[in-house]
Amino acid sequence: MNTAENKSESSNSLNFLEQIIEKNLKENLHGGKVHTRFPPEPNGYLHIGHAKSICLNFGLAKKYAGKCNLRFDDTNPTKESIEYVNAIREDIAWLGFDWEEREYYASDYFEKLYEMAVTLINKGKAYVCDMSGEEIAAGRGTPSTPGRISPWRDRKPEESLALFQKMRDGEFPDGSRVLRAKIDMTSPNMHMRDPVMYRIMHAEHHRTGAQWCIYPMYDWAHGQSDYLEQITHSICTLEFDVHRPLYDWFLDNLDISGIRPRQFEFARLNLNYTVMSKRKLLELVEKGFVTGWDDPRMPTISGLRRRGYTPASIRSFSDKVGVAKRNNVIDMALLEHCIREDLNKNAPRVMAVLDPVRLIIDNYPEGQTEELDGLRNPEKPENGYRKVPFSKELFIERADFMEDPPKKFFRLSPGNEVRLKYAYIIRCEHVVKDESGHITEIHCTYDPETKSGMDVQRKVKGTLHWVSADHALPAEVRLYDRLFSVPNPDEPEQGKSFIDKLNPDSVNTITALVEPGLADASPGDKFQFERTGYFCIDNDSKKGRQVFNRTVTLRDSWQKSMGR
Ligand code: ATP
Ligand code: MG
Repeated sequence: MNTAENKSESSNSLNFLEQIIEKNLKENLHGGKVHTRFPPEPNGYLHIGHAKSICLNFGLAKKYAGKCNLRFDDTNPTKESIEYVNAIREDIAWLGFDWEEREYYASDYFEKLYEMAVTLINKGKAYVCDMSGEEIAAGRGTPSTPGRISPWRDRKPEESLALFQKMRDGEFPDGSRVLRAKIDMTSPNMHMRDPVMYRIMHAEHHRTGAQWCIYPMYDWAHGQSDYLEQITHSICTLEFDVHRPLYDWFLDNLDISGIRPRQFEFARLNLNYTVMSKRKLLELVEKGFVTGWDDPRMPTISGLRRRGYTPASIRSFSDKVGVAKRNNVIDMALLEHCIREDLNKNAPRVMAVLDPVRLIIDNYPEGQTEELDGLRNPEKPENGYRKVPFSKELFIERADFMEDPPKKFFRLSPGNEVRLKYAYIIRCEHVVKDESGHITEIHCTYDPETKSGMDVQRKVKGTLHWVSADHALPAEVRLYDRLFSVPNPDEPEQGKSFIDKLNPDSVNTITALVEPGLADASPGDKFQFERTGYFCIDNDSKKGRQVFNRTVTLRDSWQKSMGR
């Protein structure tokens, strides 16, 4: 954890990227223009780490009156799909960011990239190499020993050019040839050892169809796409700092004009108790360890949305973690804190009993129902009241009753009094048990003079939530917990994969009883179940049977650990 450093960067002063931009603005670099982009590869759904990058890139553009593009880096057709493109668009828009008409694709630049590659070949800066992928990999050497020079390295530009054209024309099988940049096989930076720029891949692309059978490598396409879009600040994660010399080399050796993008690296967001590699997330989906990319336990934006997270809570989280230059791991409790903060302000309160036991008020008139007023949200009294039906037979939480309580138990026990929220003070008279000693009924009496809102002198220590037995609706409630049982599931461990570290109890599905007013709520609606947590209606809900996802419990371990 490294929150102290990040915090001061985010709230008190400018983060290092803002400092750079403000310096550039002072120097009137690019006439004061700020243009960023978010460049996802459409090979999976976006996760909370991407959300950080989205908030950063769109946020900087907004702060400095600039623009931010959405660009799909779609250079690998076998792993990409239109499903992912659409999911990415939906998630970014949901987070509250607008790329306006600037939705671009690296595949839109395939022709231009091809021409740029031809320029490099003509300058003797790139060559067609007939080595196989394995041979090239085996010949790369190590950082301290030089790589093997390709026998094709000094091929004449005309010959490379003709071969490159034939590669494009589909005359060669997959993997038989590549185009490589001619840089330096002795460079200590492995990315500079004549990296591959194009590979042959007879595969249909989700946008260009069968038009191409050679595809640019990410490292070739990425920097040039930034240049073609005239991006001023190419922001990426730290692992790309070793690629920067290569990106610079490409730009140095092309005849560029206009804005030359500059790359800046920040530390990727890591979160404990989850994984964020798309490969691992895909494995969880494909092997059925989760129900899909939008499973509420996933760290994906769609999963968080289904879990009940709001765009504002994710933006606030992104802001709170700040922008770091060194890798660190953020505590999941901070993310949970951010959604609690939002839902505490905005989620209507309702009563729901998750583990019900029947409570009978012996002196309450049979057949009588009262419609009591429940405050919708104490944080927003102006939202007024809802009606909650009250009657002789109720349900309360099993855990709110103890036959033989310890000293500081302020809930219900024989002979003791508590208040029923929005209703009356009741006193427990006796209990009924079945043959196995299990409590089946709690019998109480109520005092009609203690109705909520009346001037009551008597003080009781506990207030319980409840539902009316005849009115309550049964609902499916999915109690989610963290997906992994260890803080760092990525940590390599002999004989174990990250799959072995899945939390076996990450979801527990129960039937609960909820306030009848919830019958009309719609998927995505969020509530605080009083005293138990925040819950969101799932799209699996059907008429007459609502399904709720628990977003988080009420207990804020972040706030607690920060001593606030
Ligand atoms: P991969 O490249 O392995 O498919 P990726 O997570 O890097 O996975 P991209 O689609 O390339 O996926 O990411 C798009 C953008 O999001 C990149 O600019 C990347 O730097 C940024 N990004 C990805 N993961 C994180 C993260 N954990 N924190 C911050 N930014 C991230
Ligand atoms: Mg990437």
